[in-house]
Amino acid sequence: MKQKKIIVIGSSNTDMVVKTSNFPKPGETVLGGEFLMNPGGKGANQAVAAARLGANVSFVGRVGNDLFGKEAVAHLQEEGIDVTHIEYDAKLSSGIALITVDQKAENTIVVASGANNALHVDDYSKLDALIDADAIVLMQLEIPLETVRQMAQYAKSRGALVVLNPAPAAELAADILQFVDIITPNEHEISTLTQTEVTDAETAGKAASLLAAKGPAIVLVTMGSKGVLLFQENNQHAFAAEKIVAVDTTAAGDVFNGAFVAFLSKGYSLHQAIALANHAAGISVTRNGAQSSAPFLHELSIDF
Ligand code: ATP
Repeated sequence: MKQKKIIVIGSSNTDMVVKTSNFPKPGETVLGGEFLMNPGGKGANQAVAAARLGANVSFVGRVGNDLFGKEAVAHLQEEGIDVTHIEYDAKLSSGIALITVDQKAENTIVVASGANNALHVDDYSKLDALIDADAIVLMQLEIPLETVRQMAQYAKSRGALVVLNPAPAAELAADILQFVDIITPNEHEISTLTQTEVTDAETAGKAASLLAAKGPAIVLVTMGSKGVLLFQENNQHAFAAEKIVAVDTTAAGDVFNGAFVAFLSKGYSLHQAIALANHAAGISVTRNGAQSSAPFLHELSIDF
């Protein structure tokens, strides 16, 4: 079977991470520990996670004409990702994320979106060779919602499979959801999307059925250490999380999404792709960082 192309349309940021024993309250300064600077952004993270698993990945994004943007593009290229559809914004800075991580591996993140907020497509014909029936388009919500809507509609009209990771949490109108084939919220995001409280598999299943009624045929709810819930055609199936000791959960969702589309693109079944993505995301939370925590194919110990 021919491997499908993956087109990630999304954000690229530089993550600045500080380890801390306590998160500062408003007005408070705390002395943290180690400082790390890593390439990040949900779009770039997911693209890298997919590429490391052997997928054929193109990234459509926008960075500033600054040091951070050039570094981010060079890094994506080093990961084997096609960067020819990344544009440089003459005025806006590249995206930046300020991240703190505590000893329990919880994190807080503030994002300055910069050029990511100006990602839009003026001329769709430039994408015609890229986005067609052999493509899986993966998007997140760190770019303008209007761009997500237009790209989902365009990708669907080209026969591509449209996967949306609705992160960070936002309410989405039916005019976006109707063009989405597979949606992958975490518990917080599906709570926001459906205006219901989701805390376990039962509430996740109910919320997933509400979300599926708005368009996506498949809903995958990622639930951290509780694993993943698949909802499809009024049936649900639970995938248990890996039993590991979490070190840093930053980008667990990104690794899950990148790995999921990577395995779909290689022709694995839906259930197999979810199980493999669950495994890859489980490995990533045992390591520090965002993109740097994404595993390579040879590190996975399950196959079908
Ligand atoms: P983040 O915002 O930190 O990137 P997220 O909230 O989007 O993550 P989660 O649902 O927390 O996503 O995690 C995504 C997937 O990662 C889970 O479905 C699971 O497969 C894996 N995962 C996350 N945390 C753990 C954990 N503690 N143990 C095992 N697997 C985990």
